[in-house]
Amino acid sequence: MSLGDRIRKVNERVEAACQRSGRAREDVNIIAVTKYVSVSAMSAVLDSGFLHVGENRWQQAEEKWKQLGHRGIWHYIGNLQTNKVKDVVGKFQYIHSLDRLSLANELEKKAADLDLTVKAFVQVNISGEESKHGLEPDQAAAFLKDISGLKHVHVIGLMTMAPHVDDPELTRPVFRGLRELRDELDGQAFTPEPLKELSMGMSNDFEVAVEEGATWLRLGSILVGKEEDEAWV
Ligand SMILES: *Cc1c(COP(=O)(O)O)cnc(C)c1O
Repeated sequence: MSLGDRIRKVNERVEAACQRSGRAREDVNIIAVTKYVSVSAMSAVLDSGFLHVGENRWQQAEEKWKQLGHRGIWHYIGNLQTNKVKDVVGKFQYIHSLDRLSLANELEKKAADLDLTVKAFVQVNISGEESKHGLEPDQAAAFLKDISGLKHVHVIGLMTMAPHVDDPELTRPVFRGLRELRDELDGQAFTPEPLKELSMGMSNDFEVAVEEGATWLRLGSILVGKEEDEAWV
């Protein structure tokens, strides 16, 4: 399938999921996750009209950034080591994996140095899988309170990853759990700005995520694909 066909298919499915759940299509943003593809393929994704792009490792993103950093809005979606913060702040406007105080403090320091603000999602491990990063749900309130004084790190929402399962329906409780936690935390107003965004839903489960309130989908294989696929562009 070509890139254009994949984009059309995904858009149709997102649209249908919005209709099923009574949501407005414009409330659901798509991040094209380009981690599986080369610089030239990423360039084609940007040409196709995607503004938001996501990468999960600085080492892999670096060459793409050098060539394409002036285009698009970049999202850092992977686990972020504190010693990599200096590489990503100023390049990635959104960080989806804020999960500890030391990371928040380092982001604050680097963002303050550059006189900019970083938009952050607090990653929460709703599924409880040991392999997943993120705070325990019951740690999230205290964490938000701890970092509420940071001037250059704006927490705008929560992020989670669902377990990879054959039947996407089984991910629903995870996405619903993140939405309920977001509502609860937003009601307690720990963050200076409303806690509005939900970064959840990947290739395998994005329709369920939309139905449960996702505002940012992170789509790699189903949308951007992998270049070994035939007729990539
Ligand atoms: C790779 C990745 C994605 C996209 O995965 P697909 O299943 O290929 O859509 C989304 N989120 C994170 C954190 C990732 O690392």
